[in-house]
Amino acid sequence: NVVAERILRRRSLEMRNKQEDWQGSPEGQKMLELRRNLPAYKEREALLRAISENQVVVVSGETGCGKTTQLPQYILEAEIEAARGATCNIICTQPRRISAMSVAERVAAERGENLGESVGYKVRLEGMRGRDTRLLFCTTGILLRRLLVDRKLEGVTHVIVDEIHERGMNEDFLLIVLKDLLPRRPELKLILMSATLNAELFSSYYGGAPMIHIPGFTYPVRSHFLENILEMTRYRLTPYNQIDNYGQDKMWKMQKQTIRKRKTQIASAVEESLESADFGQYNPLTRDSLSCWNPDSIGFNLIEHVLCHICRNERPGAVLVFMTGWDDINTVKDQLQAHPLLGDPSRVLLLACHGSMASAEQKLIFDKPEDGIRKIVLATNMAETSITINDVVFVVDCGKAKETSYDAINNTPCLLPSWISKASARQRKGRAGRVQPGECYHLYPRCVYEAFADYQLPELLRTPLQSLCLQIKSLQLGSISDFLSKAIQSPEPLSVQNAIEYLKTIGALDEDENLTVLGHNLSMLPVEPKLGKMIILGVVFNCLDPVLTVVAGLSARDPFLMPFDKKDLAESAKAQFSARDFSDHLALVRAYDGWKDAERQQSGYDYCWRNFLSAQTLKAMDSLRKQFLYLLKDIGLVDSIQSCNAWSNNEHLVRAIVCGGLFPGICSVVNKEKSISLKTMEDGGVLLYSNSVNAQEPQIPYPWLVFNEKVKVNAVFLRDSTAVSDSVVLLFGGSISGKALDGHLMMLGGYLEFFMNPSLANTYISLKRELNELVHK
Ligand code: ADP
Ligand code: MG
Repeated sequence: NVVAERILRRRSLEMRNKQEDWQGSPEGQKMLELRRNLPAYKEREALLRAISENQVVVVSGETGCGKTTQLPQYILEAEIEAARGATCNIICTQPRRISAMSVAERVAAERGENLGESVGYKVRLEGMRGRDTRLLFCTTGILLRRLLVDRKLEGVTHVIVDEIHERGMNEDFLLIVLKDLLPRRPELKLILMSATLNAELFSSYYGGAPMIHIPGFTYPVRSHFLENILEMTRYRLTPYNQIDNYGQDKMWKMQKQTIRKRKTQIASAVEESLESADFGQYNPLTRDSLSCWNPDSIGFNLIEHVLCHICRNERPGAVLVFMTGWDDINTVKDQLQAHPLLGDPSRVLLLACHGSMASAEQKLIFDKPEDGIRKIVLATNMAETSITINDVVFVVDCGKAKETSYDAINNTPCLLPSWISKASARQRKGRAGRVQPGECYHLYPRCVYEAFADYQLPELLRTPLQSLCLQIKSLQLGSISDFLSKAIQSPEPLSVQNAIEYLKTIGALDEDENLTVLGHNLSMLPVEPKLGKMIILGVVFNCLDPVLTVVAGLSARDPFLMPFDKKDLAESAKAQFSARDFSDHLALVRAYDGWKDAERQQSGYDYCWRNFLSAQTLKAMDSLRKQFLYLLKDIGLVDSIQSCNAWSNNEHLVRAIVCGGLFPGICSVVNKEKSISLKTMEDGGVLLYSNSVNAQEPQIPYPWLVFNEKVKVNAVFLRDSTAVSDSVVLLFGGSISGKALDGHLMMLGGYLEFFMNPSLANTYISLKRELNELVHK
């Protein structure tokens, strides 16, 4: 012990010397100079004092003031100075992978080190840290996972939870767990960091923890609302049916219905503004031209127009465009690239910013472009707080974000672009004033802004809770409902109940809400329970290879591209992979396998091009598959993929396993003369997305479709589906124990004629029991 202590002491001293060397070097000096200019630096001593005197501290400050990059470093430096460098263990959580990685890289650079020395990162299935890593940036999910095996966070000295104002589900969850843990770990320090000023909420949740605000500097940013933009850019609104031709028609109808149905405050503000709008010589903003500032169908023309206006008439400076989601970004990027000015690489550097981009691409976003080239970054709301692009002078804000919400009554997740909150709009605007006074173009009228909610609803209150409930159980935090009632804002009891029922149905929890063996295994896999169950079935039945492809495909984006203008060609390319077996999942497996073969012959790109596949997504799937396999080896579920592959060529089995994972995501199929009628138990009639191979079929000769996801837009739509037979549903769907069995049989009863034959039914039930035992072993 004495020897160990001496070694640690020596290492601490080494760290101190190293830090002093770096800070004394010319580059180190320059970096220090930069760091000292950040607003956080003035508060350094006050922050460190508050942290040493209190167990919990809440820190707030404008985005860019230096919370994320500086505060964890201050703590590390203070520990090193106090000769505790080798014993401190600081964890800083980030809501997103990209921020954990980019921040760690930045902090390592500020300390003159490589990643994996004193600073490291860990995100799902990826990481970079070494023996001497003392400051770890990780996603919130990673820390929750660590709590699974290390309930008291032994050895951790500081936990910093960043971006808590976003009220993400994981962050809210972590805050409950930590609140529980703090009394049992009196020496553990907790620091909460938030961009906006609702710090009181968090402070009072932790019994009045002290708050420190870092006063920031930002330059003033001028707001231009739609009415001014139209004037300024001399943009002529055209009747909506002439604006562009990428899908507004449908979108607009959807939007009208939502507005009518919801009758929200915003909707009425929209209506009012239409009545009173006066746009002078420009076309009046008629009901039909509403789509111009319905950013879902934003007049792409309007964005293009504003961007051209900036490039032609404005001072130098980067442009940050906030879009609703990744699909929009891709579409708009493609279109802008075809523009004579905006697509000209000698004048414009057009970049998209998303969670899974390569680091070379990431670097381009942060770097200043060459003189005379204007950088335009298309981003989602991720760029609101967690990453800072310094040279932004112009912000274009569509006013919407794709937000997951959850309809507990129908137990259906919804993904709708919805209006952002005032807090987000302010945040977006603020991004333009980092280095000099900026301009923000809001693509909506001022009256719509006035009607925005103050803050966004916390994620815990608007998403399905299955994975979370599983985690509560595996962390042995007691009754799910009791635990969730301790949250800052608790979710609806009905949502909690739905999640518990789901976990019982798939066999992850037993009747008394205890974790089953399957449930325990599922909680170890960093994927949704349904995908985890597929993986486990794939292992049990020795057909892991295709199952991993399905799971990777469902975790990544859809590799099948559907360009708007070549939709027919793309659909028939996809149909070829389906070989008329009524399964998007099998089509995915074939497309992936074909790509692997083509890659071996160096013709991967050609193959993708011919078949409307995204090479980038297929590569991402490839790496996800490798990572899953690595993880399965780590947990001890498999030795090698070969050892689990004996049945991989059996498509019937793969189909059954897909069903085993996706159940109870199931709808009944009734073939009518001219159409197919699909029904789920909760929603009644549902529809298929047009890019499903099953959407093209005049008849589906199976009684059921299992699906990965249903989304409520105007109607309920099913994404990716696979047709399955009665016996497959009976054998692989759900779990059988006590009451669940009755429910399961009842649900199928109406369709199962062979239940007229009791002995056959009994055979099935006993087979099913055996199968369940297999999965639970
Ligand atoms: P906060 O967390 O308060 O929003 P950060 O700590 O993320 O602020 O950033 C502080 C400052 O550090 C930013 O304003 C920016 O100037 C600088 N910075 C952050 N990341 C990078 C990077 N990757 N490259 C260059 N500068 C960066
Ligand atoms: Mg930050």
